[in-house]
Amino acid sequence: MNFIDLKVQYNQIKQEIDSAIKNVVESTQFILGPDVSELEKEIGQYCKTKYAIGVASGTDALLLPLMAIGLTSGDEVITTPFTFIATAEVIAFLGAKPVFVDIDYDTMNIDSSKIEKAITKKTKAIIPVHLYGQCADMDPILEIAKKNNLFVLEDAAQAFGAEYKNKKAGTIGNAGAFSFFPSKNLGCYGDGGMIITNDEKLADKIAMLRVHGSKKRYEHKYIGINGRLDTIQAAILRVKLRHFENWIKLRKEKFDYYSEKLKDIVLVPEEKEYNKYVCHQYTIRTSKRDELSKYLNDLSIPTAIYYPKPLHLQEAFAYLGYKNGDFPVSERCAREVLSLPFFPEITYEQQDIIIKSIKEFFKK
Ligand SMILES: *Cc1c(COP(=O)(O)O)cnc(C)c1O
Repeated sequence: MNFIDLKVQYNQIKQEIDSAIKNVVESTQFILGPDVSELEKEIGQYCKTKYAIGVASGTDALLLPLMAIGLTSGDEVITTPFTFIATAEVIAFLGAKPVFVDIDYDTMNIDSSKIEKAITKKTKAIIPVHLYGQCADMDPILEIAKKNNLFVLEDAAQAFGAEYKNKKAGTIGNAGAFSFFPSKNLGCYGDGGMIITNDEKLADKIAMLRVHGSKKRYEHKYIGINGRLDTIQAAILRVKLRHFENWIKLRKEKFDYYSEKLKDIVLVPEEKEYNKYVCHQYTIRTSKRDELSKYLNDLSIPTAIYYPKPLHLQEAFAYLGYKNGDFPVSERCAREVLSLPFFPEITYEQQDIIIKSIKEFFKK
């Protein structure tokens, strides 16, 4: 059994994918070829947002909007410690300071009731993360941001297609960042990412920063990076976008199946009514996490932990001076979470084996 099986999906759409790749190779338009701008249009339409800018990774999708607002040393940005390092890494990379705020135990997203206490004169932005495909509770965050004049960048790397009160993830704040890492809900066959926004000036600057701060070749207005989305990856994503809604539907069916069968033995994911949850991971919580994961792995059932160590306890952030106990909810979740094999094409038979094994573990 695989934790995520990308091959099943490829086999289902092999002809479309192979011909899309071949078209790019034959056109030789590898750098910002037509598939990139077509994908930007299609994703803009899908998310109902004015601008979409294809970039090299989810990390660049987080970095570029922060570069565009001029984030620099002395500035502070508020985010969650219960996320992938990229969320906070980009803040530190620009010389600014990540300021962590603990999460809500139910959703494992940033606890908006704790944000205001973390705001100082130096705070410039908030980066809520839509963890596992469920949007953070954005209304209170937007209200705090408005009151304090803060930029809101949604880390929607795991939440492409999710909705908050009928708005697509990434369109609620000032800008949204997606990752197309192969295992994400909409994944390419390498690295890729996208930024969406309704702010024309911001979009324009991000598009320039993505190509060395330039619009006209060899005229550089800003210090930028090489952060372009590959044309081959864009062509693959255009094919996959056409199947995306179906995959989200399958994810939801498999997600509900797990929850129905497991809800009496472990803590299953909590789905908030304001959301369309796109079910990126299927993550249960139990105080016997380590024993359960070993038991499953011994039965050749792979599991994963997102994330075993919150960011405030990472060596790379030791200089921030946080210590164990500072964010008890994040620390508790890091001890309890266990993600089960999950992908749109997982079969009910495979899920039954996993469910049966979990039940056996708890009978002992
Ligand atoms: C995957 C991920 C990223 C980074 O995306 P890459 O494409 O790997 O650079 C950032 N934030 C979160 C929450 C992620 O899950």
